Amino acid sequence: MKTKLVIATHNKGKISEIKNLLKPFKLNIFSATDFDISAPKETGKTFIENSIIKAKAVSKKSGHIALADDSGLCINALNGSPGILSARWAGKSKNFTIAIHKIEKELLKVSATSKRSRRAHFCCALSLAYPTGRILSFEGKVYGHLNFPAVGNNGFGYDPIFIPDGYKKTFGEMNFLYKERISHRQIAFNKLKNYLIKI
Ligand code: IMP
Repeated sequence: MKTKLVIATHNKGKISEIKNLLKPFKLNIFSATDFDISAPKETGKTFIENSIIKAKAVSKKSGHIALADDSGLCINALNGSPGILSARWAGKSKNFTIAIHKIEKELLKVSATSKRSRRAHFCCALSLAYPTGRILSFEGKVYGHLNFPAVGNNGFGYDPIFIPDGYKKTFGEMNFLYKERISHRQIAFNKLKNYLIKI
């Protein structure tokens, strides 16, 4: 029988990216939405801490292995903001058009108008929590710069303003499968996958 693994998120963009990454493994995959588990308060100070909080909560409530992602966009000229508050910058309505405008405004305030002054990276922390209490955590980062106005309808969140180093297109313009090959989530996932084989 396949082992059950619950993805500790309600974010549809993350669920589909993570489901796709998990495809090669013989797992029976669910999400927190399937178990009607509400999201815990993200009280951690780092991406890793928050991913552990989410994975532990879902593993405890579901009784299965849980995989949580905590990720976000860190902008050099804004001292790493929005960082772990990336989702919160979009407000309760999760409106990323608002969040993207806010970023553009903040960058203008510090006169960051050139490509060089708009350096940023996406960070992804993945934590696996077992019902036994065992925790495994991994981190991946992808570096690039921000570009305005936003372009591309693929992906989610801040994808339409992020151009990874070595590319001319934003994550939002890239084909979903292509983004996934080079993303922060993929980099973190590559570190985690040896453990998934053993589940
Ligand atoms: P959280 O990890 O659920 O707290 O939310 C992280 C937020 O960071 C998401 O809601 C997105 O806004 C942003 N984010 C994380 N990963 C990505 C990505 O791959 N593309 C675009 N935005 C992302």
